[in-house]
Amino acid sequence: MRKIYLDYAATTPTDSRVVKAMKPYFSKIYGNASSLHKIGQKSKLAMNKARAEIAQFINARSEEIIFTSGGTEANNLAIKGIFFALNLPHKHIITSKIEHHAVLEPCRFLEKQNATITHLPVDKYGLVNIIKLQQAIKDETILISIMHANNETGVIQPIKEISQIVQAEKERRQKEKINIPIYFHTDAVQTFSHLPLDVHQLNIDLLSASAHKLYGPKGIGLLYLKQGVKIESLIHGGEHEKGKRASTENIPGIVGFAKAVELAKKEMNKEQKRLMKMRDYFINKIIDSIKDSHLNGHAKMRLANNINISIKGIEGEAMMINLDSFGIACSTGSACSSTSLEPSHVLLAMSLGPELAHSSLRFTLGRWTKKKDLDYTIKKLIFVVNRLRNISSLKIKI
Ligand SMILES: *Cc1c(COP(=O)(O)O)cnc(C)c1O
Repeated sequence: MRKIYLDYAATTPTDSRVVKAMKPYFSKIYGNASSLHKIGQKSKLAMNKARAEIAQFINARSEEIIFTSGGTEANNLAIKGIFFALNLPHKHIITSKIEHHAVLEPCRFLEKQNATITHLPVDKYGLVNIIKLQQAIKDETILISIMHANNETGVIQPIKEISQIVQAEKERRQKEKINIPIYFHTDAVQTFSHLPLDVHQLNIDLLSASAHKLYGPKGIGLLYLKQGVKIESLIHGGEHEKGKRASTENIPGIVGFAKAVELAKKEMNKEQKRLMKMRDYFINKIIDSIKDSHLNGHAKMRLANNINISIKGIEGEAMMINLDSFGIACSTGSACSSTSLEPSHVLLAMSLGPELAHSSLRFTLGRWTKKKDLDYTIKKLIFVVNRLRNISSLKIKI
């Protein structure tokens, strides 16, 4: 049976070139980077090199990169770290309704610590409402956390505009001598190494990324923390990562992360064009050949690899399982919601209605996707849709 992987937004296979770069760091160069002997210093050297390369890629400094266990930890460290670092009577955080659970849940936790959270709505294209953002800012607002691109719909958020709003608010507070800081955090897990990112140009204070979404290994991520921004550590122990994140550094993971970034940097522009062409081909084919199919999310302001569609009257889960039986791996909504029957919070926030939200499918393309895989998938999808529609019309007749 053919095996077609169209779930690259859930995770990517580790590129064999990355695996090769990591290999020496398991049993040959195994030292603890904190050890002062030569064996330890070899690991430290590799880590410093990797850190510098990754920092350079987003126009940051080495000292501004904190390695974590992944995107989830980076988001937790950003949000809780800012919250616990500030000793203020009232703390307000602005986020959006479409964030990943790794942002929504830390915010929910902080509500129990007396934080006030505003969840910004999105329009029907999945874009965060900038006017509402501006209106939501109060003197007590300490953090604005808006993702760069959504993991379910691939919709790219206007983070340049958002950071300009935060910048203007910083200047207003300075002028009016309001001594409360405000920071901008973005969960860039879906865009890091897929889109160009310049933390200086974009005026970002904190940014999260994860290696397993960019052909690197699982279990390694990072938080970019702009120089001068203070956060409280969540994992206390040794002085690793400048005291922001204790635990012996994951050297193979860090080296693999840097290798994955290096590869992406070289191939990014060409790959984005290739994927975008296939994405649009796939979307048009589906819309043209399946009645009552509908693209979710903005058609242009979306990741080059994301296709999120709803097919009226059919459960997403049923389509997904049927496609899996033909060797095609895709997802319904997000990987996190695929085991529960709750419709996606992202699609609901886009006012899709529970019926269409329940009938969504997400295909995400990647480095090894070929056009012939998409042709095969469309053929099988049409077959599956007809089969499921026939079953449901039979039910109605009976
Ligand atoms: C995958 C993902 C995460 C979580 O990253 P992990 O490294 O798996 O913890 C966070 N945010 C977004 C947008 C993601 O797609």
